[in-house]
Amino acid sequence: MSCKHIFVTGGVVSSLGKGLTAASIGLLLKQRGYRIRMQKLDPYLNVDPGTMSPYQHGEVYVTEDGRETDLDLGHYERFTGIPCDQHSNYTTGRIYGSVIARERAGGYLGKTVQVIPHVTDEIKRAIREIEDDQTDIAITEIGGTAGDIESQPYLEAIRQYHHELGPGNSLFIHLTLVPYIRAAGEMKTKPSQQSVGILRSIGIVPELLICRCERPFMAEHRAKLALFCGVRPEHVIEECDVAHTIYEVPLDLQKQGVDVKILKLLELSPRSPDMDEWNGMLERLLNPPNGEIEIAVVGKYITLRDAYKSIYEALTHGAVAAGVKLNVRMLESEEIEASGAASKLAGVQGVLVPGGFGHRGVEGKIAAIRYAREQKIPFFGICLGMQCAVIEFSRNVCGLEDANSTELAPGTPHPVISLLDEQRDVTDMGGTMRLGAYPCCLKPDTQARAAYGCAEIRERHRHRYEFNPAYRERLEAGGLVVSGASPDGHLVEVVELRGHPWFVACQYHPEFKSGPVAPHPLFAAFVTAARQFRR
Ligand code: GLN
Repeated sequence: MSCKHIFVTGGVVSSLGKGLTAASIGLLLKQRGYRIRMQKLDPYLNVDPGTMSPYQHGEVYVTEDGRETDLDLGHYERFTGIPCDQHSNYTTGRIYGSVIARERAGGYLGKTVQVIPHVTDEIKRAIREIEDDQTDIAITEIGGTAGDIESQPYLEAIRQYHHELGPGNSLFIHLTLVPYIRAAGEMKTKPSQQSVGILRSIGIVPELLICRCERPFMAEHRAKLALFCGVRPEHVIEECDVAHTIYEVPLDLQKQGVDVKILKLLELSPRSPDMDEWNGMLERLLNPPNGEIEIAVVGKYITLRDAYKSIYEALTHGAVAAGVKLNVRMLESEEIEASGAASKLAGVQGVLVPGGFGHRGVEGKIAAIRYAREQKIPFFGICLGMQCAVIEFSRNVCGLEDANSTELAPGTPHPVISLLDEQRDVTDMGGTMRLGAYPCCLKPDTQARAAYGCAEIRERHRHRYEFNPAYRERLEAGGLVVSGASPDGHLVEVVELRGHPWFVACQYHPEFKSGPVAPHPLFAAFVTAARQFRR
């Protein structure tokens, strides 16, 4: 069987949850026995989101092979369990980069290089990267909203590709908004009509319309949407806001037969679905047997939920493993600087300090870590959070006054965190950090080893600075345990404390490898320790 294709576009407004919807469809098709791969095409000009502020773009998700990508890839991996790679995310910057490099290399000699066909050919090449003989269905999500100037080449490329693939081999799904206007007491279909109108004017006819709405449709809305958008009434799907968790979305779609409809449109047999594991996870998530706990996340992008997306999701997965209802107290680290850790952290059963860049708010994170260490509250440090834990320990346990990271205080007398050797001559900022999965060996009889239950792991990195090996002996003599290191022993990857209920900090990002049906071992162990913590 040759690979079939699904193209997912969005209309009316952004933030409709297109990535979640695409990921849900991916899960449903996978659970019906199809081998799927997913991809997002982003129309902006950055080569990747690695250089963007979290305020602009939310979290930067890192793939196993070290690509800095859109956070929707996190949804793809969490829902389907299928790893993404460098071909799972392309941007206009990257597409144009290839076209321009080919032009300079003489690849278009004699020709005028143009958006059509050269840029659209390059987009199609990117799409074909996720098709192979191991893939039955490739799902491509187009970022942005129909009508954006910058997404036009992508829409043109998928129009061409749909035509080339021939009938029954590809499918357009359009996600749109059906708003409820309170003052009029009515649901409105006009924005969806207009958005589908834009697609039709460029030759794309969506066959399945997924409508985001606050409340369920009436029969008249379905009929109207079908008529004006040229879609069969049974292909107008409603996707209401879910009651509790995003992990309900696939089931809501399945109840309306979305997976069967998609397979029919792609001329594939429905096969029977296996949702047992997913349903079991949801049952445990919605009815946790072991009560409630509260965990603080201390960061500097707290106002923006998307900035720590994978962290919050991985905590939820840890809560599924521990069987608890999780409440997250989101704390701006600068507030801790202003009012002290004790007042802000009172009552929490766990403290997590996630990754970050730059000095703003760092002293608040360090104060939070000191409080968790001294009060013996379970603590989990990730990337910058691990570096802050090392700084805190150096200052307050080993007496290294003003110890710091050279990223945050270049003139520090005790650079306990300093640039990785491979980073010293790096001047380009894009894609040059230590990125992607590296092996790490865990020491026996440590909390990290107990959590993972194995001696060698692979975890994803995204950082320039590291534990300075020149200080390793002093800190170990002071009681810090290096529980994980690179196989050659040089790079410190995990540190922890003895005599503390659970205090683990890692240089890598475990949150990128956690899923609801496969919670990451460190998140599971952290939330379990938090559950056992009694104030
Ligand atoms: N800023 C730190 C570094 O570059 C930590 C990075 C992170 O937390 N992702 O090493």
